[in-house]
Amino acid sequence: MNELDLRNKRVLIRVDFNVPIKKEKIISDTRIIASLPTIKTALKRNAKVIIMSHFGRPPEESYDYRFSLFPIVKYLKNKLPDIQINLVKNYLGGIKANIGELTVLENVRFNQGEQENDEVLAKKYAKLCDIFVMDAFGIAHRSHASTCGLAKFAEISCIGPLFFKELEVLTRVMKNPSRPLVAILGGSKISTKFNLLNSLSKIADSIIVGGGIANTFLAIHNNVGKSLHEPNFVKSANILLNKHNIQIPIDVRVSTEFSENTVAKIKQTNNISDNDFILDFGDKTINSLILLLNQAKTILWNGPIGVFEFPNFRKGTEMIAQTIANSDAFSIAGGGDTLAAIDLFGVKNNISYISTGGGAFLKFIEDNNLPIISIIKQRVK
Ligand code: AMP
Repeated sequence: MNELDLRNKRVLIRVDFNVPIKKEKIISDTRIIASLPTIKTALKRNAKVIIMSHFGRPPEESYDYRFSLFPIVKYLKNKLPDIQINLVKNYLGGIKANIGELTVLENVRFNQGEQENDEVLAKKYAKLCDIFVMDAFGIAHRSHASTCGLAKFAEISCIGPLFFKELEVLTRVMKNPSRPLVAILGGSKISTKFNLLNSLSKIADSIIVGGGIANTFLAIHNNVGKSLHEPNFVKSANILLNKHNIQIPIDVRVSTEFSENTVAKIKQTNNISDNDFILDFGDKTINSLILLLNQAKTILWNGPIGVFEFPNFRKGTEMIAQTIANSDAFSIAGGGDTLAAIDLFGVKNNISYISTGGGAFLKFIEDNNLPIISIIKQRVK
């Protein structure tokens, strides 16, 4: 976007305003804040600025006030008091956008065909603008009409500054990281992150696995009792473990109940009983991981180490978060639960880069590409 002349042009920016809202109040404005510089730049460069976003999952593909962008427009009016901001409900037949004003199109998920990437809909969107700017990194792993479809049919398509920054940081970490690069991959299921684990094992010097993923690795040689793990992936985990430097826990926090106030007991990983749930790492493991992380020059983090929502099982995730925050390494984090943990432990300002994408962040690391990038590159050719 920064390379194009925007003056007097209808510039349609796809943003990601899919923020958590309760009773018309925005709970976390991170994604909106991240989009503001792009919007302000386009306004300053005398474009006729139009923005569009999805919000939530409306059950029908039609207007539903519970999923209106109205609370976001209210928020924007506060943030940009000098700008006239209009929320437009019916726009597929055409709109009037003016220089110096901000036109916000209602939730794209009210339109039939949005999530199926319907071509007819994408062409209608394309008619609304002279330039399409894709800046919604958070939805970039999906091919929807307002992302890939629009990028295909708009007269001119490009990516915006926020998207560019995300790609720049992620590409640097993947292609040319300061080493050692330590990746932390936690969370519930190895099946959803196996390809990612494979990609990471090619670029990282060591990988710390946590959560249900670590339990699946433990199950190669140990009884894991009732712990969350995926027996179908034990064999593949073993192949990876033999080839790469994957750190698995030596001691863990267990309980015989999966419940919020249950007490944690530390056990060696070769001593787990049939009734145990492994819910977090033990202290010996945590201490050795702190030493490993303190030597890292780059740290990439996705997914909690344990059930951090339960106070007695958050130490692993908390210590990892604090260690990253105190480290001089370049650190990058992404993913919904990871950001929730970062917020919970108050370390947001000490992480070098927090991605606005969860799925897109993971997909880009996994494939070194995103569908929208292929389309825009194709069009550049
Ligand atoms: P994901 O969405 O795959 O990143 O998984 C995040 C969820 O995994 C969080 O809600 C954690 O509570 C959960 N989790 C982490 N460790 C464990 C564990 N050992 N057992 C069960 N759930 C876990």
